[in-house]
Amino acid sequence: MHGTTHAKRLWALDGARMTLENSLLIVGGTGKLTVPLPTFLIEHERGLVLFDTGLVPEAVDDPHAVYGELVEEAGIEMTSEQRVDSQLAAIGFQPEDVTHVILSHTHVDHTGGLSLFPHAKFFIQRGELGYGYWPYPAAAAFFRPADFDPIRKIGWNEVDGDFDLFGDGSIQMLACPGHTPGNASLFVQLAEQSFILTGDTAHSIAAIENDLPASPDANTEKAVWSIRKLKQLAAARQSTIWVGHDPDQWPTFKHAPEYYV
Ligand SMILES: [Zn+2]
Repeated sequence: MHGTTHAKRLWALDGARMTLENSLLIVGGTGKLTVPLPTFLIEHERGLVLFDTGLVPEAVDDPHAVYGELVEEAGIEMTSEQRVDSQLAAIGFQPEDVTHVILSHTHVDHTGGLSLFPHAKFFIQRGELGYGYWPYPAAAAFFRPADFDPIRKIGWNEVDGDFDLFGDGSIQMLACPGHTPGNASLFVQLAEQSFILTGDTAHSIAAIENDLPASPDANTEKAVWSIRKLKQLAAARQSTIWVGHDPDQWPTFKHAPEYYV
């Protein structure tokens, strides 16, 4: 790498927790699992990029008013410190500082904070928004169109396939269909290392290691090939795969206010 072909800093922002049937997260899973719902902030000389937006901030005060029965079904627990705007404030940023929002997919644990960033540019894979409004029944409980309605009036950049955000290779949206039709992961090249932030292409390191999809996936075959795509890329680029929802991997990484360079 040379010049400015890398992003400057990467923060993992802590978010709420969900406690879910493990069978929803990985084929063959048993019992229940409490998983983190992080978002990621990337500083680049041309902007401040947020990957996913967590739960609706106001859900801290009245979760049932926002999520109804999903509060119990998904075991939603959230503190005021875990609001995405609180996480940004804790490291010295306001929502207005975020210039680009990249959405991995349209599930509720990723779309909740979208309306905080009306001034930003929004990026999503082609086909994902349509599925968010009209998902297959098996996964329908995990969508909240009220989260992305406000952005519908502002406008999305729908991209078709892998997309290099700043044209320098440092932040690349990776098309990973399967979990949802427009599911995406994110490659981030920093000065000292690179990461592949899986989003929900996989929900655990075990899913990565064993090519195991999740039961609510829209397309199982594509989900498996997207997992393989991430493994191939990680091997080629010597990147660290970071599975956001993996509860065992989460404590092994730095979280904001600490960051990676
Ligand atoms: Zn998720």
